[in-house]
Amino acid sequence: MRAIDVHCHPSTKEHSVSVGKYMAALEAMLGRPMRSKSEDEMAEDFRRDDVFAMLIAMDAQAETGEGVITNDYIAGLTTRHPDVFLPGWAVVDPWKGKLALAELERAIRDLKLTGTKWMPILQGFYPHDHRFYPFWDLCQSLGAPVLIHCGTTAIGSGMEGGGGLKLDYARPLPCIDNIAADFPKLTIIMAHPAWPWTEEAIAILLHKTNVYMDISGWRPKYIPATLKAEMSRRLQDKILYGSDYPGWSPGQCLDELQMEGLRDGVIEKIFYKNALRALKLADKVKAAEAAARLRSK
Ligand SMILES: [Zn+2]
Repeated sequence: MRAIDVHCHPSTKEHSVSVGKYMAALEAMLGRPMRSKSEDEMAEDFRRDDVFAMLIAMDAQAETGEGVITNDYIAGLTTRHPDVFLPGWAVVDPWKGKLALAELERAIRDLKLTGTKWMPILQGFYPHDHRFYPFWDLCQSLGAPVLIHCGTTAIGSGMEGGGGLKLDYARPLPCIDNIAADFPKLTIIMAHPAWPWTEEAIAILLHKTNVYMDISGWRPKYIPATLKAEMSRRLQDKILYGSDYPGWSPGQCLDELQMEGLRDGVIEKIFYKNALRALKLADKVKAAEAAARLRSK
């Protein structure tokens, strides 16, 4: 296994249903159409790049009115393709209240998903708003890490009024810093380099042991210089590799990262060692490796 990709979205028809009215602007930004793939084609994309992937569900219905990618679908991908998909990320819409809390617990306990992903811009909520604290409390008690989108987003980009989406929900200070302080045993991964608030994110990463960052969604050469410099230094145990597939190709991001001239030993940490430790993935990776051996016989 070359890497663990902690941040992937399904490229199947479920993806276009969840992106909905934002698709045209997203395709314009990426400069290419996003053709829906079959499940087998999607699995093959990761097999070819020798990557174990963690896929993400979707539910921002209350705010965007778009379709849901269910937690059952994400869990089923691991069941159907155990050699390439590690148990991924559950998503619940925080505005669905008690129903969402129950669904989150079911997704972790019964479906055995690894953690939960949150998209404050799309879901229209501030993570540090105390009304949503029961979610962090539950995740902390379940030992389930949370992956929270930080910084700007491709969704709504280039649309009038950004499609009505507000970036302020994804600002690391105070959103992430507050919940990291109030839930010190909750493992938090800031998704993406948090631009234009990368320096705020670096400060939190240095200050709080329970906070990490995935560098998904950015071609390595465009990762802000301050962050890139710290990746080899003070943040070498805090950065997790992610691609943001299907927007970006996992293999291409890995190749480009390898060319960035990071210090010896740091590449292995970013490619998989940090994810193994922070997300406690050892057993899940062993199971995937066993499935891969079985498949190659
Ligand atoms: Zn993403």
